[in-house]
Amino acid sequence: MRRSSRRCGPHNRRQAIFGAASMALAAAAPRSAEARAVAEPPRAEDEKFMRLAIAEAAQADFPFGAVIAIGGEVAAKGRNLGKTTHDPTAHGEMIAIRNLVMIGRSAEFPKATIYTSGEPCPMCMGAIIWCGMKRVVFAASIDELSTRIGQIRLTSRAVAEATPFETVAITGGVLSQESLSLFR
Ligand SMILES: [Zn+2]
Repeated sequence: MRRSSRRCGPHNRRQAIFGAASMALAAAAPRSAEARAVAEPPRAEDEKFMRLAIAEAAQADFPFGAVIAIGGEVAAKGRNLGKTTHDPTAHGEMIAIRNLVMIGRSAEFPKATIYTSGEPCPMCMGAIIWCGMKRVVFAASIDELSTRIGQIRLTSRAVAEATPFETVAITGGVLSQESLSLFR
């Protein structure tokens, strides 16, 4: 959508010639797959919550941590417990999700933002979408994490874009160096 609106700028010759026709075409065009993953700039409160997610990561089996915030407050935390629980699916985001469910607040997922020290893997991003969370903030990207630890090379954006029923706002790169510094 954004790309086509740039093409429709007032100084574009095609716009001048085909103005009315191209506007009608744009209106009729199906919503782009991009609409399911909206890249969003960081907000003022993001660093505060990310520091808490990174503090979780610092205590984790593998250095990944997550915080779920609702209404400007921390509602649940999680850190990777893959070794402690012998559960390879015990990623920080999964533990935070399970903790929120355990305290009976799963109805609030649509109001929640999840902060995670590492970009969600496809499993966690799938879980985030199934829970109905609308905003994801991550520190280190999958590309950056791949330089430290094995990753499934599919971005959170790609997972969101493949989901026709949900739109997720994604903000990446908040305190990524702090997150990466936990890998030795
Ligand atoms: Zn994961």
